[in-house]
Amino acid sequence: MNSKDLFNESKRYFPGGVNSPVRAFKPYPVFIEKAKGSKIWDVEGNEYIDCCLGYGPLILGHSDSNVIDNVCSQASIGTAYGAPTENEIKLAKMVIDRVPCAEMIRFVNSGTEATMSAIRLARGFNGKNKIVKFEGSYHGAHDYVLVKSGSGAAALPDSLGIPEDTTKNTLTCPYNDEDALKKLIVDEKDNIAAVIVEPVMGNIGCVEPNNGYLEFLREITEENNILLIFDEVITGFRLSSGGAQTYYSITPDLVTMGKIIGGGFPMGAFAGKHEIMEMIAPEGNVYQAGTFNGNPISVKAGISTLNKLDQDFYKNLNKKGNYLRNQISEIVDNLDLNIQTVGLASMFQIYFNRDKVTNYEIAKKSDIERFSIYFHELLDNGIFIPPSQFECNFLSSSHSNEDIEKLLIAIEDSLKIAW
Ligand code: PLP
Repeated sequence: MNSKDLFNESKRYFPGGVNSPVRAFKPYPVFIEKAKGSKIWDVEGNEYIDCCLGYGPLILGHSDSNVIDNVCSQASIGTAYGAPTENEIKLAKMVIDRVPCAEMIRFVNSGTEATMSAIRLARGFNGKNKIVKFEGSYHGAHDYVLVKSGSGAAALPDSLGIPEDTTKNTLTCPYNDEDALKKLIVDEKDNIAAVIVEPVMGNIGCVEPNNGYLEFLREITEENNILLIFDEVITGFRLSSGGAQTYYSITPDLVTMGKIIGGGFPMGAFAGKHEIMEMIAPEGNVYQAGTFNGNPISVKAGISTLNKLDQDFYKNLNKKGNYLRNQISEIVDNLDLNIQTVGLASMFQIYFNRDKVTNYEIAKKSDIERFSIYFHELLDNGIFIPPSQFECNFLSSSHSNEDIEKLLIAIEDSLKIAW
């Protein structure tokens, strides 16, 4: 069956025909048959260079041979034990050695679980109830954080089914705006347990912190007995081996991780200082649990992936990212388009607007209709990116120089048509 027929059938079984809203696009999403390295193939046999990469986890590209070998050998000796394993310790050490704030860790199954648990822990630790998140940040699909969210939730900012009693404890303010947060903290500091931030906003496109902004967050939270949580579900192991906290040299109290840590398999984690993490059950009084926590397959895939992420790895990958962004900027300048190229390391995106994007309000000024034309043109030219302006694109170590040159040609052709 082709993608169109599969989508029509899918709609009978899945709301909107998909299992996660970001996968839907008009007139129907391409259905994928297989993937390898930097490429993904749909059921019609069309080949795409993939810059969606499963929304970020696949920093080595699809089905890295070593990861798959290790996963298969683990699968042959068990897929879930409901008991601890030595490999969990191995992966924990790898994370703790690299990520500055991580002294103890709990493995969970998704980024959503990681932020939900870290927020509960922060509340349990300092006995306060409110949290601050930033407009457009996305921290998963649970009730505490689905307030002014980006990513797929940008299309549904006010989900039904979330009690006001829950969201009244979630305060929001614009990213990169020191005065707005100062004001919130002056008014509410005795009630705020944590500030949770995507150090680089990857769910409204890709927005970096202004110079000094993360330092400001660190100082103001420390001064007011508020925990600082870096949500590094995207940036963890993406910007550097220590994530954004190493990249920007700022150490939060807690970090949440997902995506890359599971090497392409479902996994999340939260980690932080001993004194905070020790409050987690069974020894502590903050409950957190999961049948699949520390799942042996995901853990093995995580170990196999992290093993490859040394300094040279990031040097090479980030060099490709810099080259790509510079070349896109050159294309945009030569065509004299009202477009800006953003990103860092191996993350990139464009906005159909020249106003420098520093927060969600400005990101929303991008011409979404043009973005949609750009997305479809790229698809027709054999490039797969997330269909939304409010997502980020990624490169992996599997993307060859040839892939990048093809990507640039497709981007230029698509921009000419979208503009
Ligand atoms: N936090 C951030 C920054 C994310 O980008 C995401 C997902 O994209 C999440 C949390 C939620 O992760 P998951 O989809 O694994 O639940």
